[in-house]
Amino acid sequence: MVLSALAALLLWGLFSAPIALLFMLAVLLIVMAYRARQLFKLGLWLNDARIETIPEAGGIWDEVFSRLYQMVKQHNQTKQELADELQHLQQAAAALPEGVAILNEANRIEWCNPVAEQHFGLNGERDIMQDITYLVRQPEFIEYIHDADFSKPLLMRPARLDNIVLSIKFISYGGNKRLLISRDITQFERVEAMRRDFVANVSHELRTPLTVVIGFVENLQDMPDLSQDSARRALHLMAEQTRRMDNLVADLLTLSRLENEQSPSRGEPVDMKELLNEVYRDGELLSGAQHPLRMEIASAVNLLGNRDELRSAFSNLLSNAIRYTPDGGAIVLRWSEQGGQPVFSVQDSGIGIAAQHIPRLTERFYRVDRSRSRETGGTGLGLAIVKHIVIRHQAKLEISSEEGKGSTFSIVFPAGRRLPSASEAS
Ligand code: ADP
Repeated sequence: MVLSALAALLLWGLFSAPIALLFMLAVLLIVMAYRARQLFKLGLWLNDARIETIPEAGGIWDEVFSRLYQMVKQHNQTKQELADELQHLQQAAAALPEGVAILNEANRIEWCNPVAEQHFGLNGERDIMQDITYLVRQPEFIEYIHDADFSKPLLMRPARLDNIVLSIKFISYGGNKRLLISRDITQFERVEAMRRDFVANVSHELRTPLTVVIGFVENLQDMPDLSQDSARRALHLMAEQTRRMDNLVADLLTLSRLENEQSPSRGEPVDMKELLNEVYRDGELLSGAQHPLRMEIASAVNLLGNRDELRSAFSNLLSNAIRYTPDGGAIVLRWSEQGGQPVFSVQDSGIGIAAQHIPRLTERFYRVDRSRSRETGGTGLGLAIVKHIVIRHQAKLEISSEEGKGSTFSIVFPAGRRLPSASEAS
């Protein structure tokens, strides 16, 4: 522009003022046309502002466009960072073990993770902006939302999921949004129910013999001149009931100790021949020579484990075999190996167990025939104790049985607990 003004002054001096003015006008027109063209290009570009299509220009426009280029680049970068951040957050929320859904003030779903989809039967794409109370129709859920008292979680068993218990919470945030959080607490509920049953069962088991003992004590108090015979009979029954309570408390203590102790990592070497002989002798005493008892030692390997626990498990299995086999029925105690794994088993020819009971036998206080168990001095805890000991030795309890024919209970130990026999080792 300065050069054009100097040229116009020169033209004024050489020719005349109108010529100089005409020259200046022409220059201004050209400059304005150039600027208009650049503005037009800028306008066009702003309609679809992408970094690849930014216009090229010279002079001051070059500066403008290069600034714009920087701004767009910065903007794109920030946008990408925000998108990445959002994706990370969504991935984290999707990976949560809890169900999470974001609801707006009208309870419409803005977003939900796959666990929430599963818990409520939602579809994260199809159901967006749908009212959740139209999709989850369970009355207690609708009532919980309408009452809007979210101080306590709602426990709900979804009708469409079998035996699942959900704990549902609503948390308000950001003014009018709500976070719906659902947690699968089935396992927790099951443990709670087991705990409740256990306490009820223990109380019941102790109460029955206690009632008998109290009854006799009161009788003895009320009738001081009771005949010797009746008094002896009463004392005999009282002794029987107190023994029962004592057995029960002893088994409860064993169970609680097993539950509280750490598993024996490797354990001590256990001389199996010696241990089996001990268990066999206990069996003979318990049976009172009423059962032909046989011991088969088909393997010379020993075990790494906890001797006292192993003795307790083996004795429990043998005592059951004796108690559930009518007099005269044969019982075999066996120590063998199956594919490199040591196996202890007790086979009896007793009353056997119907198939539907087998999976539940190791539950505390589970008995097939309550009165038979009681008559023979059972506490209903023997197999629960065996199961704990088996787990602590990373072994497996296998039960095969046929009603009326007999049962075989086997403990299969892991090969890692096998101690080679002296002949093998040398
Ligand atoms: P219990 O003290 O009642 O014997 P256990 O836990 O040892 O308790 O066993 C649970 C139940 O399993 C028993 O009540 C009995 O019904 C059944 N059972 C266990 N061992 C045998 C067996 N060898 N033959 C038949 N039934 C058995």
